[in-house]
Amino acid sequence: MPNSSKVVGRYAPSPTGDLHFGNLRTALLAWLHARLQGGQFIVRMEDLDLPRVVAGSADQILRDLEWLGLDWDGPIVYQSERTDFYQRALLNLDALGLSYPCFCSRKDIQAAASAPHGKVGVYPGTCRSLSVSEIAMRASNKSSATRLKVPPKMEASCGDFVILRSDSLFAYQLAVTVDDLDQGVTEVVRGADLIDSTPKQVYLAELLQPKRGRVNYLHAPLMLDDQGRRMSKRDGSISAEEWRRSGGSSEQLLAHLVTTIGILEEPLKCIAIEELIEQVDIKRIADKLSLRY
Ligand code: GLU
Repeated sequence: MPNSSKVVGRYAPSPTGDLHFGNLRTALLAWLHARLQGGQFIVRMEDLDLPRVVAGSADQILRDLEWLGLDWDGPIVYQSERTDFYQRALLNLDALGLSYPCFCSRKDIQAAASAPHGKVGVYPGTCRSLSVSEIAMRASNKSSATRLKVPPKMEASCGDFVILRSDSLFAYQLAVTVDDLDQGVTEVVRGADLIDSTPKQVYLAELLQPKRGRVNYLHAPLMLDDQGRRMSKRDGSISAEEWRRSGGSSEQLLAHLVTTIGILEEPLKCIAIEELIEQVDIKRIADKLSLRY
């Protein structure tokens, strides 16, 4: 077992709507994984993507986590209050000569992906070598995003990725990496939908803090709804609030979440958080978080 005094786990929701059961199950797994090692657990609100933030959602998320029985250490960190740190990281990356402005639209990138040798989701490096005068010319009538150059071994799989969006918001990859470093996070347990982000964040972290310790990235399987589709906040997958309104207790919901992932021997109808942490075994959780990096 790792040195318990050093384990720091986290849950980092985006306040863009109520957490659905899949989100809650990931939060529970992250909490159990940290607490079973005697580690700290922190909660960070990823509220940078202002156009998507829903008023009241952050408070509702915290209420839901608390109601489920998850506790956390220290104050909640809000990314919207940390933009100075992201700005500093951008400057550092710029000083390393690794960032560049990109003027491509989403359409340009899609077209490049459908060309021979193109790959969906991988930026082909169109703006990587623009000259100073070309940049000045394009900047006069279009706002640019900022991308980070990746080393050759990552070019085919991930491509240069955005660290500052063209609407001037700091990109998810940059903010998450800066925060995980600053907060001393050692265990990132999150949904498998983010697995493609992990190599980007590992690379960014190496650039920003080459001497950091090891971070474990563990990815929880996504929960599917009754029709076998991935749950989404947008399609109104059931929330803790609805569960409560229809008379469900937190113990019943915990049992449901635990049963759907199979971290206890037997399916359950009801379990208190204190019992759950007594009964569950960290190895069994780690087995479920099989998508490691
Ligand atoms: N804020 C992200 C989300 O809610 C998760 C970020 C992370 O865990 O790295 O999807």
